[in-house]
This record gives sequence, structure tokens and C-alpha cells, in this order.
Amino acid sequence: MANNDKYKEIFISRLMPCKECQEKGYPKKGQLFLTYGSKTHKYKIHKIPSDPPAKKAGITPHFVQALGLNKTDDAVVIIRNCCIDGCGINLIWNEKQGMYDIHFKNVNVTVLPIPEWDALFFRWHNGTGFELD
Ligand SMILES: [Zn+2]
Repeated sequence: MANNDKYKEIFISRLMPCKECQEKGYPKKGQLFLTYGSKTHKYKIHKIPSDPPAKKAGITPHFVQALGLNKTDDAVVIIRNCCIDGCGINLIWNEKQGMYDIHFKNVNVTVLPIPEWDALFFRWHNGTGFELD
């Protein structure tokens, strides 16, 4: 029996495929995206520095949050959200505050089989180049 606590309240920021971005040819040079620093615990806005190669279209920064195991204990319930401005989020400049307001608009609740989650989390946790900060 899998240990539910192992799969709760985990929040990671990493690259994942996004169907909507792939269809729109995102990410593009100059687009803004959002990350969350696992060490700083702060949101950070970045700009795509150059057009990525075509084969990387649709591979975008995401927030992934684990909510716990599903009822049959064989998959992890996750929230995933693409962090490209104009796709899963809208960044709107707030003149008064002098910073961007972050609007999450495309939050997907889904499940990942435990081995897939473990692979995703392990790669993130051990910093093999998939992490964003
Ligand atoms: Zn997207």
C-alpha cells in the first residue's frame, strides 16, 4: 500500500508538455513565464530569451502540485498549470504596485500513475536539468 503522505502538499515548478502551447507554437522569444523558487519560495517572472527549436514547441514551464493519492492508491492526483503568459496564466502589469498581477486561468486537475509521478519528482528533486531554478 502506498503511503499517501508521501504524495501530499508537494509543489514543483518544471518543464512539461502543454497541448495548447504546442498548437499555438509557444513558447516564443520575448514571452513571459512564471516560476516558483523551491528555495526562495517566491514567484519569479522571466522572459523567453530566444525562440526554442521547433522540436521543443509546447514544452513549457508548469506548476505541478500533488494533492495525494486517488481512491485506488495507484495514481497521484495533481494540479498542473502551464506558466506561459497567455496560456495557463495571464500576467497583467499593475501600474500602482509596479509589478505584475498573476491570474491563473487554466488549472487542470488530473492523475499521474505513481511511477510517472515518482520519475517526475525524482528528476526534479535531483536536479538533472529539468528544474527551472
Ligand atoms: Zn501552455
